Amino acid sequence: MAESITGGCLCGKIRYEISQPVQNIIACHCTNCQKASGSGMSHNTLIPSAAFKLTSGQPKIFADTANSGNKLYRAFCGDCGSPIYSQREKMPEMMVVKVGTLDTSDAMKLAMNIWTKSVRPWLHLAPDVEHYPENRPVKT
Ligand SMILES: [Zn+2]
Ligand SMILES: [Zn+2]
Repeated sequence: MAESITGGCLCGKIRYEISQPVQNIIACHCTNCQKASGSGMSHNTLIPSAAFKLTSGQPKIFADTANSGNKLYRAFCGDCGSPIYSQREKMPEMMVVKVGTLDTSDAMKLAMNIWTKSVRPWLHLAPDVEHYPENRPVKT
């Protein structure tokens, strides 16, 4: 059995487990992620929601409106403010976990930059990584 990946918020009230390996990091430079993270971007990894389990605490949910006009639920710790994950209203079977909340992410790699049309000008973008000005193309 594969070992679980664990993570949690800054204050430790929220803890979670992911029951499958995670590898690819998607850096999102949309202005909503900049505000929500308090940083230049958000580092996300996409997983099936079924692989995610809260083991402690209950996040607060902010119903954000994405650039697409669709609802995006942003889950964060109501005590310390750490963003934990987000989920699209129209795609509840998938979720993105905020990579900075993982206990370890040493084996992961940055795979993609999205919404680079709103990248902060002082941020260096690695040239050897895929870039998309808006959302990533849907792969079928
Ligand atoms: Zn917390
Ligand atoms: Zn974003």
